[in-house]
Amino acid sequence: MDLEKYDAIVVGAGTAGTMASIALAGRGAKVLLIDSKAKDLIGKKVCGDALGTHHIINVGLPFPPKETYRGKFNAVRVYSPSKKYSVKVEGEGLALNRHAFGQWLLKLALDKGVELRDNTRAEALMFENGRAKELKVVDKNGSAYYVSGRYFVDASGFYGILRRQVPETFGLEKEIPLEDFSITYREIRKVKNVEDLGVAKIFLDEQIAPGGYWWYFPQGETTVNVGVGVQGGKNVNPKKNFYNIIEENEALKNSEILEQGGGIVPTRRSLYTLVSGNVLFAGDAACTANPIHGGGIGPSMLSGKLCGEAVADALEDPEKEREKLWQANKRYVETYGAKAAGLDIFRIFLQSLTNDEIEFGMSKGLVTDEDITDIGYGKADFTVREKALIIIRGITRPTMLKHLAETAKYMKIVKQEYLKYPDPNMFPSWVEKIENIFQEYKRKFIEKS
Ligand SMILES: Cc1cc2nc3c(=O)[nH]c(=O)nc-3n(C[C@H](O)[C@H](O)[C@H](O)COP(=O)(O)OP(=O)(O)OC[C@H]3O[C@@H](n4cnc5c(N)ncnc54)[C@H](O)[C@@H]3O)c2cc1C
Repeated sequence: MDLEKYDAIVVGAGTAGTMASIALAGRGAKVLLIDSKAKDLIGKKVCGDALGTHHIINVGLPFPPKETYRGKFNAVRVYSPSKKYSVKVEGEGLALNRHAFGQWLLKLALDKGVELRDNTRAEALMFENGRAKELKVVDKNGSAYYVSGRYFVDASGFYGILRRQVPETFGLEKEIPLEDFSITYREIRKVKNVEDLGVAKIFLDEQIAPGGYWWYFPQGETTVNVGVGVQGGKNVNPKKNFYNIIEENEALKNSEILEQGGGIVPTRRSLYTLVSGNVLFAGDAACTANPIHGGGIGPSMLSGKLCGEAVADALEDPEKEREKLWQANKRYVETYGAKAAGLDIFRIFLQSLTNDEIEFGMSKGLVTDEDITDIGYGKADFTVREKALIIIRGITRPTMLKHLAETAKYMKIVKQEYLKYPDPNMFPSWVEKIENIFQEYKRKFIEKS
């Protein structure tokens, strides 16, 4: 038995866990950060490595040092299945050196006094009167022991080791349905010349990436991160499809593999609550990645920070523990969760389209550069243009345009409901309302088509 009691135990030293630890230790809390990886390997992760710089600013971090990124983006371009049509979103982003970025975050946490236990796997959460008390961990020699804490943060990534062990909590999904995940395979390759340095490219193609997309993200003049993500449950092997892409692209075919691997990321609205008793969830463990493109580094850092701050508030004012912890939900919804829920409607819409429909929509300019930027901010509205477009562009498929307009309407409805995020006593009826909106949308537009 480890007799030492921590204010907070954070499981997972990824982007979510390090940010939660930084926030907590910055407020004077005694924090234990646990990761199954060796210290030197923390931050190493199969990823597209793209991060919009606004995410770093939003969580109040300093601009990261040069060694943490390999290049910069100024735009993202999304292509139709034929690649003939595309839309562009402008904005600055970094092509991260993911490992170095993770090590930088870890160092920021350690410098604040966080205690790291690496090579240590969190296994079982022990409860007393419904409250998490101790965590059983296993070190690299296979020896198990217990650490005790007042609060626990699950930042263990998509598997959510603690989330699965908390008592049944209304509105908390302990198991995430397979179709809400993106199953991915990616390689970092050395090429002779990177195409369009500064532009991260996303290709929509239901044949290669059903329910997802494939990407080409430059990381410098001769390095590129290429990958495929497919919706879970489709029985598609992303690695096999990845090699079809390589076969068809001469420049990639003759390139050298620098890194390779598969990964999983939840691509859906975040958990309805980041709090269950004295256990909080952040990052992929809370499904915070962007539902449309799976960009999860930014929201994982944000949710980690907000969970850390809420725990620090509860430590300072234990009488108001419940209210203080719940603030993690309220602040997250205001800053990201409401937008993500709206985007989840758009994700469901996108996943219902065939290649032919995507091609048609993009060829007719149903979604413009401006719309795609607005969608990114969670505020698209196609209703006004609906009739005008039918006349001006001679749209031969008004149903599709109507469907798009209705989708924008539902995005707005969901977002508005999220912005009325409830106090704990009203939480069950709020969850029901949100579930009903999603079910209604699916019933009206998805299950029919
Ligand atoms: C192929 C792919 C491409 C992606 N591309 C992008 C992109 O370009 N941009 C973007 O923003 N996002 C991208 N994402 C998503 C992004 O990587 C994740 O959303 C983000 O890393 C989540 O961070 P996290 O801290 O929640 O989880 P993780 O980064 O997964 O960290 C979890 C940590 O917990 C540790 N851990 C797990 N279980 C235990 C345990 N039982 N005990 C102890 N430690 C444990 C792990 O070792 C790990 O260090 C991509 C994901 C994938 C899979």
